[in-house]
Amino acid sequence: MSFPYEAPVSQSLFERASAVTPGGVNSPVRAFRAVGGTPRFMVSGAGPYLTDADGREYVDLVCSWGPMILGHSHPEVIAAVQEAVSRGTSFGTPGAGEVELAEEIVARIEPVEQVRLVSSGTEATMSAIRLARGFTGRPKVVKFAGCYHGHVDALLAAAGSGVATFGLPDTPGVTGAQAGDTIVLPYNDLEAVRAAFAAHPGEIACVITEASPGNMGVVPPLPGFNQGLKDICSDNGALYISDEVMTGFRVSKSGWYGIDGVRPDLMTFGKVMGGGFPAAAFGGRADVMAHLAPAGPVYQAGTLSGNPIATAAGVAQLRLLDDAAYEKVDAVSAELRALVTEALAKEGVAHCLQVAGNMFSVFFTGADVTNYDEAKAQESFRFTAFFHSMLAQGVYLPPSAFESWFVSTAHDTQAVERIAAALPAAARAAAEATE
Ligand code: PLP
Repeated sequence: MSFPYEAPVSQSLFERASAVTPGGVNSPVRAFRAVGGTPRFMVSGAGPYLTDADGREYVDLVCSWGPMILGHSHPEVIAAVQEAVSRGTSFGTPGAGEVELAEEIVARIEPVEQVRLVSSGTEATMSAIRLARGFTGRPKVVKFAGCYHGHVDALLAAAGSGVATFGLPDTPGVTGAQAGDTIVLPYNDLEAVRAAFAAHPGEIACVITEASPGNMGVVPPLPGFNQGLKDICSDNGALYISDEVMTGFRVSKSGWYGIDGVRPDLMTFGKVMGGGFPAAAFGGRADVMAHLAPAGPVYQAGTLSGNPIATAAGVAQLRLLDDAAYEKVDAVSAELRALVTEALAKEGVAHCLQVAGNMFSVFFTGADVTNYDEAKAQESFRFTAFFHSMLAQGVYLPPSAFESWFVSTAHDTQAVERIAAALPAAARAAAEATE
């Protein structure tokens, strides 16, 4: 397709980046491969807006893929960071900031009795799985097709067809041995989970699931699915790991746990809890966490874990996230969803808007989406047209049809009005799009 306008400075930065970095980016989805065109190189963010290297402003509906729930450059978060940085950047010792952040997490999320801080969501899920294997003495891990848990080798296994399919490596560099203990199942299918446990008695260490998936677009668990997972795990001596890297501290004060109340054995966090800095965590039952070094034998460590700048940002952000903040984010999300549906319906575009708390995404299909196969069946070429029209009109959507949209407390009436003004043309572009 042709792109509605050029971004010469971003284009030249992208060319320089591509010479020194594979694909020109440090995380693949940023490269716009799913939608084509030039990725925008951002230079600043303020509230709900991002400004790119060409000086163009966008209403941001990505929010750094979730973390910026208070909008960009929130003055109190920036002040906390400046205060922390004035005292030094890394000590390699324990510090008060990491205690405060851990206490914030434990206070908000009741099943988390103890927590270990790490630097990325990938590290959190990798460590939680190692701990589950160490605790149970079992090798196998159940995950669901379409759930993303970071680029942990064992979790990049793709879904095969049929029930209880052994994972095959989905990417070169992941060996059969690394993926061989991963069982990939269709999402929202408890029968498949029961069959996997029946086929591998005493071998499954844990089931890991996104608390409410946002990485195949937003596909919430069907009623009873998470509780069913928890019960099957309990009945079979396996651990239930709820990955709340995306939903944690975003969809409610205590994440998805605050919405469905299903009590995991272990949980993983990232994104919002770092206030825009690299901070993540895993935690849960104290008797399980006690197996972690130096308290127990399962090794896990990190030079920059609990970094003072990251923990200062995280603590400042979490303390600002009171009930009123979540009410605001929920309200903006509801307003936007209504506007998107109205615009697409007006143009007769088949779509299904799916919601998990204040996270949502649009599938270009007439049917509800309950798993990855159904998500992939959408007409994603319509999203491409929709995306580029919105971008040209100054609205920055996730550059893929398989991602959640994110809003913040900073998305005010003016920002919503800008989005509303852009939607009719984008809906028309989606209606007119051809494969
Ligand atoms: N788990 C979930 C549910 C995620 O959405 C992500 C990232 O998007 C991760 C884990 C990995 O986190 P990170 O990118 O910080 O490694």
